[in-house]
Amino acid sequence: MTPWQTQYAEKLLPKCAPRKGRPLGGDISVSWLGTTGLLVSDGNDALLVDPFVTRPPLWKVALARPVCPDAAAIGRLYSMIREAPVRAVLVSHSHYDHSMDAPAFAQFFNCPLLGSLSTVNVARGFCMDGGCTQEITPGDVLRVGRFSISVLESVHGPAFLGRIPYRGTIDEPLVPPVPVSRYRLGTAFSFHLLHPSGSLVVHTSAGFRPGMFNGIVADSVLLGIGGRGDTAEYLEAVVRPLGDPLIVPIHWDHFFIPLDQPLRPLAGVHLKEFLDTAERLFPGRVRTLPLLDAVTLPGGGEAKRSR
Ligand SMILES: [Zn+2]
Repeated sequence: MTPWQTQYAEKLLPKCAPRKGRPLGGDISVSWLGTTGLLVSDGNDALLVDPFVTRPPLWKVALARPVCPDAAAIGRLYSMIREAPVRAVLVSHSHYDHSMDAPAFAQFFNCPLLGSLSTVNVARGFCMDGGCTQEITPGDVLRVGRFSISVLESVHGPAFLGRIPYRGTIDEPLVPPVPVSRYRLGTAFSFHLLHPSGSLVVHTSAGFRPGMFNGIVADSVLLGIGGRGDTAEYLEAVVRPLGDPLIVPIHWDHFFIPLDQPLRPLAGVHLKEFLDTAERLFPGRVRTLPLLDAVTLPGGGEAKRSR
């Protein structure tokens, strides 16, 4: 372990109740970690997407107070998922609620962190070994175990008063603590994960370009719904081209309160309106995930991967 890991592990892990991962049997399972955090696993190989547990309170965000990764919260989650065979941490964009904690998890799992150059600079500021970070760009196809991951160019949703917050890039190592506004967007990605047991699209932010998913079919879509525009328009643009996927909303929870407090929707996300509209447009194809519990996704296999 690095000195950083030792410090965190010694201080934090003994307080945490370890939980064994459940056997997964080769199907793809997804555990939702809050916000857009996901643990995707086939039992042999696993990926973490946007793991984020620091969740600073709203007043700190609003008043631009410096924040840094919450060692206790990171340790608690790590203790719950450490049995998972995590091979890579993927970051969809470098806003703080996606990238801030990712280097810590990559260090704990001793695996590469994959993200935009801005995300790489988050990792550098976190003293991650340069050899453990990898810049990814749209069009890249990554192979992790039996997962094939296509990196797609994406668009951030108009999350704050109709505008994209914290635009721009992070051009030098970002050393916390800093105000969350320093975690600038960078390049936004979506991910298409193909696996012999099924396929899924991870679309973390509720923006889109018309046609961005043309030619891609998925069994499930993990769909960021925070800061979306019109729900029906969003679903028609992003979900309809994917065929008939299971729709799993993410990024709907109140992420200014700690994960150990009862989960509740963020008011502006209008979760019920999303669920009602999605059910009307895609009957029987919508479900929410419990927090921190592995759920097996429907399969379809690689045969459904493209038209
Ligand atoms: Zn964002």
